[in-house]
Amino acid sequence: MQLPKYKKKKRIKLKICQEPGCGREFWGHPIAKYCELHRDIKLRQKQKKNVESIESKNIIFRHNYTEAMDLTFKCCLEGCNELFTIKVFPKQTVYPRFCMEHRNDFKRENFIRIMAKKNAE
Ligand SMILES: [Zn+2]
Ligand SMILES: [Zn+2]
Repeated sequence: MQLPKYKKKKRIKLKICQEPGCGREFWGHPIAKYCELHRDIKLRQKQKKNVESIESKNIIFRHNYTEAMDLTFKCCLEGCNELFTIKVFPKQTVYPRFCMEHRNDFKRENFIRIMAKKNAE
């Protein structure tokens, strides 16, 4: 018996996840669009609805940590210098942009209003 000459090769390429705010690299088929996480349609649709808010409320933090780490970030809201701790996970690059208080839309808008007033004085 002869071995078949043609071996089925897995055509796998290094791709970048198309999910906004993800950008994770992964090995997949040439037609694959999403990383392992976002291949889950539930996760994807949930994010798609909030694309804007996800990008405006989060930062993309690229790192090479191989285990979960507590890191200190500074609130990205102008005028707020609050430091907060975030647990950084391997392969996860999307993290909150604002301190605990300013993750709340209402409080954040309120703070922006107060700062604008102060600057106008
Ligand atoms: Zn992804
Ligand atoms: Zn803040």
